[in-house]
Amino acid sequence: MTVLEVKNLNLGFNCENGFCQALYDVSFSLEAGKMYALVGESGCGKTMSAMSILRLLPKNAVITGGEICFHGKDLLKLPQKDMQKIRGAKIALIPQDPMTSLNPLYTVGDQLLEVIKIHQNLDGKQAIQKAAEAFDMVQIPCAAERLKSYPHEFSGGMKQRAIIAMALACNAEILIADEPTTALDVTIQAQIMRLLQKIKTETGTSILLITHDLALVGENADEVAVMYSGKIVETAPADEFFQTPNHPYSTALLNAIPSVKSEKPETIQGHPPNIRQKISGCKFHPRCKHCMEICKKEVPPMYTVGENHYSSCFLNK
Ligand code: SF4
Repeated sequence: MTVLEVKNLNLGFNCENGFCQALYDVSFSLEAGKMYALVGESGCGKTMSAMSILRLLPKNAVITGGEICFHGKDLLKLPQKDMQKIRGAKIALIPQDPMTSLNPLYTVGDQLLEVIKIHQNLDGKQAIQKAAEAFDMVQIPCAAERLKSYPHEFSGGMKQRAIIAMALACNAEILIADEPTTALDVTIQAQIMRLLQKIKTETGTSILLITHDLALVGENADEVAVMYSGKIVETAPADEFFQTPNHPYSTALLNAIPSVKSEKPETIQGHPPNIRQKISGCKFHPRCKHCMEICKKEVPPMYTVGENHYSSCFLNK
């Protein structure tokens, strides 16, 4: 079942030198109980795409077109007060840095209870019960005791679990996990990803994973979309993507993953463009090994290259 559909989202920023387009016709959909990964280098637009869903954008950002449909309602047209009921309750964010996401002055339990009371309309006793259940679900031991702890008494991994517990306590249907393991060490990263897998399977929650880490995607995601310079350039089921990547940028990203047995990982020549740079045709053409004349002049459409597998590259013409 489709829970959320982003359709032809266009977004830009009012900058000192005029308007700069940052997202170009971004489209994807989230299915219940599946993990969808948006992958790309820093600045490619993946976080802006996710923040548009929550309508948590910088002041100078302007959405110039598109729809974000959640159960058939376009979130972009909702009044702020309706959006507040959805944000945190139905669609929740797991931020990059759990260290700064909790208020150090209040116990973790107080912060969790506040979220539950705002969104769930439960009395004190029921809210405490719900909070303890949420802590159990995210495998924080001695839940009732731990609710009395302050954030500084939690490790990074436990803070991230507490934030996930807030989303679960409100029965969020979508979790937006923005680089959720970047600030954590490797063992804890694996534990958090296992927890997200468990939540997805047991509760049917959809997860939008924002990451630059293709290895993380390979181990966890069901669907993948690769973004480059504000545009989705390839989408595919994860298995198919890793077996038969199509877009030269995707291939280059995969070849850049270090592996234990392989020789030196390949690097991608050049740098990703910033949003002020105007690049004609395919935006990847200045860095592409396969660039042809047409690539410099025309924007490649999305070609179907497999079942539910699409790639925006003229090599498929
Ligand atoms: Fe490379 Fe051309 Fe394909 Fe762009 S359209 S990725 S420049 S081959």
